[in-house]
Amino acid sequence: MKNKNLPYIFIFDIDNCIIGNVEYPLYEYEIMQLIKNNCNRKDILKKCKKYINFVKVLRQGLLRPYFREFIKFIKKKYKTVEIYVYTNSSYHWTHNGLVYNIEKAANIKFNKPYFTRDYSHLDMSKSLTNVLNIIFKKLKKKYPLLNYKNNRYEVFNNRLIFIDNIKDNLADFPNKQLTCPEYKYSKKYNVIKKFKKKELEIKGINNYIKTKLSINKKNENTNKDIFFKKLIKKFKKIKNINDQTIKNLNEN
Ligand SMILES: [Mg+2]
Repeated sequence: MKNKNLPYIFIFDIDNCIIGNVEYPLYEYEIMQLIKNNCNRKDILKKCKKYINFVKVLRQGLLRPYFREFIKFIKKKYKTVEIYVYTNSSYHWTHNGLVYNIEKAANIKFNKPYFTRDYSHLDMSKSLTNVLNIIFKKLKKKYPLLNYKNNRYEVFNNRLIFIDNIKDNLADFPNKQLTCPEYKYSKKYNVIKKFKKKELEIKGINNYIKTKLSINKKNENTNKDIFFKKLIKKFKKIKNINDQTIKNLNEN
């Protein structure tokens, strides 16, 4: 479908920005990987659990409140909005657990590719240049106007925003970033219970679990977070998303 307009581009960081602390699902995922590796090698278990599902945890509060509403809102406001994620998580976790669970819980779809730490600098600062080159390349098919340099400038200048909880996380264009307060919701759950007894008998798993359990993690409940609720309100008055707009959003 060819679009005669220009897109608006929203890029979201994931951890502590659109979700809280994901340590428990990640812990479950790591155990799952250990079991899977063993399955593949030794055929210990006929069936290996293939996908991690933490949609319920996300819906209980791990997904930042009002994120869903915010996405709905910008889709309505900007008919040509294109939504991306850019996380410093690993490629594997991002593509095999993290993103599709968020998509399910929030009932949205992010554009591909999902940007991961592979696009960041060695010091883990993020690079808008790296991701934007790819975004433009991909979007040219849908928005032929992006073939023209002046239109790409127009999108860059007036239709682009990146949201992250770490201040100045974009090494190249910090002026394009809206910094959000850290969202730290975290809930302990019994990860072990998610596995079959037989699965937990695999060599090495016990040690792994013991090491992980020795880290004392605490529940944190920040359910009342209203960052995205307030952002909807602010965006109601915004048309162009330029440097000044982003500056104002950061200040108020
Ligand atoms: Mg973050």
